[in-house]
Amino acid sequence: MKFDIVTIFPRMFDGPTREGILGRAIDRGLVDLRVVDLRDFTQDRHRTVDDVPFGGGPGMVLKPAPLFDAVDHLRQTRGEPGAVILTSPQGKPFCQADAVRLSALDHVVVLCGRYEGVDERVHDQVATEELSIGDYVLTGGEFPALVMLDAVARLLPGAVGDEQSVEYDSFTRGLLDYPHYTRPAEYRGLKAPDVLLSGHHEQVRRWRKRQAVERTMARRPELLAAADLDDEERAIVRELLQARQKEIDDAGD
Ligand code: SAH
Repeated sequence: MKFDIVTIFPRMFDGPTREGILGRAIDRGLVDLRVVDLRDFTQDRHRTVDDVPFGGGPGMVLKPAPLFDAVDHLRQTRGEPGAVILTSPQGKPFCQADAVRLSALDHVVVLCGRYEGVDERVHDQVATEELSIGDYVLTGGEFPALVMLDAVARLLPGAVGDEQSVEYDSFTRGLLDYPHYTRPAEYRGLKAPDVLLSGHHEQVRRWRKRQAVERTMARRPELLAAADLDDEERAIVRELLQARQKEIDDAGD
């Protein structure tokens, strides 16, 4: 998969793209990453990428020309991208389904904004979509681009070994992950749940399922409505709802 990032700070990507699963996915060629410097697409001696906003006001705005030219260049040298993503706090919130969708594309381009943002004509004409990584404002789109790259790369076949199957991860099926424990069985007086040490695979499976449903209901109930639950999970939801209803009824008596 070709993954191209357009930024005024290419060096911000040096460390994060060398380590761990992401680093390995790039080394193995699962991700063909290209980080391009927006300043290479300027025409003036000072390599200017920003200018004052029309209409006045604080801050600077990324000029349209370097971004249009950078994406044209990537089109010519790397082929037509399946998506040109503009990072923006005003975009659609990036979620696991987006990571899955993007991981199926051959070529993705991500544009990193800076300052007050980018000229609106880039939103209109260059980007095929705008994605936000959350309801907060960052200084630039570089961390969002890394977040998207990391989430996408780990879904590519061969990126993550058996040691970390993505199948049960939070959000994969609309449920949060179950809790994990490792050795020692008792640490500072804190015990790992007996069932996990029991060796009863079926009981372990059921416990994990119940934990995943309980957690999702307690922490992110809005996820449950859209979750792709099996019969067993639906039964657990019903049971938990009944228990809650009983608590409410008992409190009323
Ligand atoms: N004035 C803009 C914010 C600009 S922040 C506004 O209020 O909408 C500068 C750049 O950082 C943005 O152009 C975008 O590329 C990036 N950025 C900041 N917060 C982000 C977020 N939550 N998700 C994705 N990109 C973000």
